[in-house]
Amino acid sequence: MECPKCLAQLEVIDFKGIEIERCSNCFGLFFDHLEKEGLKALRGAESIDVGDEFVGARYNEIMDVACPKCRIKMTHVYQKEPFEIKFESCPQCHGAFFDAGEFRDYMEEEIFEQFQDVVGGIE
Ligand SMILES: [Zn+2]
Ligand SMILES: [Zn+2]
Repeated sequence: MECPKCLAQLEVIDFKGIEIERCSNCFGLFFDHLEKEGLKALRGAESIDVGDEFVGARYNEIMDVACPKCRIKMTHVYQKEPFEIKFESCPQCHGAFFDAGEFRDYMEEEIFEQFQDVVGGIE
């Protein structure tokens, strides 16, 4: 498959049995349906996001993105709290594309939620 942003080849990488596609050029990450939720529960999964967040921020500006699997236009998902993340989601296969650095933010959110749980538990 080709990267939906820079058109370089996506390489399959494996994290604890979950296969993820990562771009060999811009290091964006493509997740199949529910893969990112599965990874979010795994400690250390942010290590798959090896790209430069400044490069990622540049590719984040590209608005016209087609799903590498279905070749239809992906929709943009914006999340403001607790960390600002914008990623692309495919309306057909529900795959998601994260630019470099975005998945680290996504994982941080999970750590933040766990922290909130701990604080809530003390009260
Ligand atoms: Zn790319
Ligand atoms: Zn798709």
